[in-house]
Amino acid sequence: MNQSASLVLVVDDDPATRLLAHEAVVEAGCAVVEANDGVSALACFTEQAADLVLLDVEMDGMDGFEVCRRLRELPGGKHVPILMVTGLDDVTSIQRAYEAGATDFVTKPIHWLILGHRVRYMLRARRSEAELRQSERRQRALLAAIPDMMFRVDRAGRCLDFTGPLEITPLASTDEIRGKPLAAFLPRRVVEPAMERITEVLTTGRPTSFECQLPLKRQPRAFEARLAVSGPDEVLTIVRDVTERNEAEARIRRLAYYDELTGLPNRQYLQEALYQAVRAAERNGGRLALLCIGLDRFQRINDTLGHAAGDFLLATVGDCIRNSLRGGDTVALERPDSAAATHVSRIGGDEFTILLTDLKQDQDAAGVARRIQEAISRPILLNNNEIVVTCSVGIALYPHDDTGVTSLLKNADTAMHHAKEEGAGGYRFYSQSMNATALERLRLEEQLRKAVEREEFFLHYQPQVEIATGRVVGVEALIRWHHPELGMVSPADFIPIAEESGLISPIGEWVLRTACRQNRAWQEAGLPPIHMSVNLSVRQFRDERLVDTVAAAIDEAGLAATRLQLEITESLLMEDVEQVITKLRALKAMGLALEVDDFGTGYSSLSYLKRFPLDTLKIDRSFVRELPGDTDDAAVSRAIIAMAHSLRLRVVAEGVETVEQLDFLRREGCDLIQGYLFSRPVPAEEVPALLAAPLLPAAAGMAAPTG
Ligand code: C2E
Ligand code: CA
Ligand code: CA
Repeated sequence: MNQSASLVLVVDDDPATRLLAHEAVVEAGCAVVEANDGVSALACFTEQAADLVLLDVEMDGMDGFEVCRRLRELPGGKHVPILMVTGLDDVTSIQRAYEAGATDFVTKPIHWLILGHRVRYMLRARRSEAELRQSERRQRALLAAIPDMMFRVDRAGRCLDFTGPLEITPLASTDEIRGKPLAAFLPRRVVEPAMERITEVLTTGRPTSFECQLPLKRQPRAFEARLAVSGPDEVLTIVRDVTERNEAEARIRRLAYYDELTGLPNRQYLQEALYQAVRAAERNGGRLALLCIGLDRFQRINDTLGHAAGDFLLATVGDCIRNSLRGGDTVALERPDSAAATHVSRIGGDEFTILLTDLKQDQDAAGVARRIQEAISRPILLNNNEIVVTCSVGIALYPHDDTGVTSLLKNADTAMHHAKEEGAGGYRFYSQSMNATALERLRLEEQLRKAVEREEFFLHYQPQVEIATGRVVGVEALIRWHHPELGMVSPADFIPIAEESGLISPIGEWVLRTACRQNRAWQEAGLPPIHMSVNLSVRQFRDERLVDTVAAAIDEAGLAATRLQLEITESLLMEDVEQVITKLRALKAMGLALEVDDFGTGYSSLSYLKRFPLDTLKIDRSFVRELPGDTDDAAVSRAIIAMAHSLRLRVVAEGVETVEQLDFLRREGCDLIQGYLFSRPVPAEEVPALLAAPLLPAAAGMAAPTG
């Protein structure tokens, strides 16, 4: 269609009328083609579809009605406006014209000026109509492309139209739905809210939505229905399957608020619950207690039995806490039946919390703490070992201690750490003085961090003496920290902090390099060759760069690898055995000696040691301390020495302070001793003198050597 000049086909067998019509149409801004009978009119239209046809009824040959009918059959003829020219007041003709498909009619005599207007109007109407048809086509395509269900409903809830999957209705076809009330094919629990919303949308004019459940392919699914006014008294409802979306949302919520291992709420969740609980308590003057539960020495169990066992233990403890708060156990609460009264979370590694609301009196929180401790301390079967774990509990109270959510959590945590320090398995209420200690620890960690760069560390060396010869055959390197304000800080105080914070890696590396260089320096100075023992913490051992770090330290110092011995702890040997063996073999392959430190304090049996490539066993100081008087310790020491020898391991006893201890160890065949009896750990400068004067007190009855 040419927009600028529409084409009008004038069909009349009277030349005069054609001429006048021509004039009028051109005047109206249109182009004209003329036909003087029906046949040529149809030919003309076939060749070029006109935008409007002015058609005389009375013509020779094919009359106007027939032409009209046929025009409608032609391509482009279906919607073309056909204006029929009839005789005045010829009612039958008018009737027949409409029946033949005419759009409108004019009567003779024709008022040509009005005809021009009429033509313009009809062309305009035709254009809008065409646009409307186009828009409808587009909308239908749009609707067909949307996977949602769509209902058009009237105020009474009758369905005017429907597209979408029919599986949700017992009706079989779209036609069946048309004209039916929603209640005919939707369950009542959906129809009721739907009707409410339809009324709402029609009243307010604003879109609204609701969610409902509907069976789709017999499976219950979640749907969201959105409603908007689509005409007077008519509402368009788009119904979308949101099952997957809802599931994804639920999953995200689970991930964000729950701990995967135990299925308990996490710290995030607790904080929100705590916030609400505090607000509620503020309003109604209630009391709250927050219990922070920390497993004692959990890291050790993790190290000893492996992470899988550790995870299992945590899950078990989680269940245990949950179960022990069920039903009658919550007697401390005013409403023991109320599910909201307790709230268990896991807020990190081995820490759990219990939030008690509606607390009658503060002391009742202690009752819950004791109950939990009792429940947790029942033996748990782990990797075929019966393990007994204990926990320490810290308790913070609202409104007693503090009002803030974060400080409640922090205070409970602080109290828990205090309980731990006082010995495992206890509970403590928070008190303000506790913060000072926590701060101190934090400060220490901060200063430890700086100590590495500030070179505040140095090493002392404690000789290991061969009992048979009385000679010093090696030294153990022991770290010292000279703190600018605190003075000397014991490694027993800062090594655990270094371990927890990860600072042990740079510190341990420094110890290794310094110790290796020192041993090399003594050799350069012409002293008798000795081995250097260096302590390795569990965390250091686990570091995947360990073998490289050790190799680098030896290389850098130019020390023979055989002059370096690593002290590892017994607990390490029980963790992920195959991996530990592989690592120990790699270290052995370099030529290093390996020693098990603090032996007898862990869970390992001597026969178990067979599997590891070890050289020396160090009997823990705790077994030496009461020797030879304590018969138990004597028996243990004796057994360790005998068993170690049967495994071809050398035995060192540490912490030997008295001649009596030495005598006992000598009698039992212990190979080496280390302890204050011979020497305390000393600075490097003092070591040469000890090597030059290798003297051990003789066994009772022998002459004591002088020097
Ligand atoms: P450890 O490896 O068991 O070291 C032996 C500890 O016993 C040392 O304490 C030593 O001074 C002390 N000792 C030696 N002989 C006697 C004695 O006859 N009687 C008594 N009562 N004690 C004696 P120190 O130097 O305070 O070290 C404590 C712990 O700190 C060490 O225990 C070790 O676990 C750790 N440590 C020390 N230096 C390092 C290090 O460089 N790296 C790592 N990872 N840990 C270290
Ligand atoms: Ca040691
Ligand atoms: Ca030791």
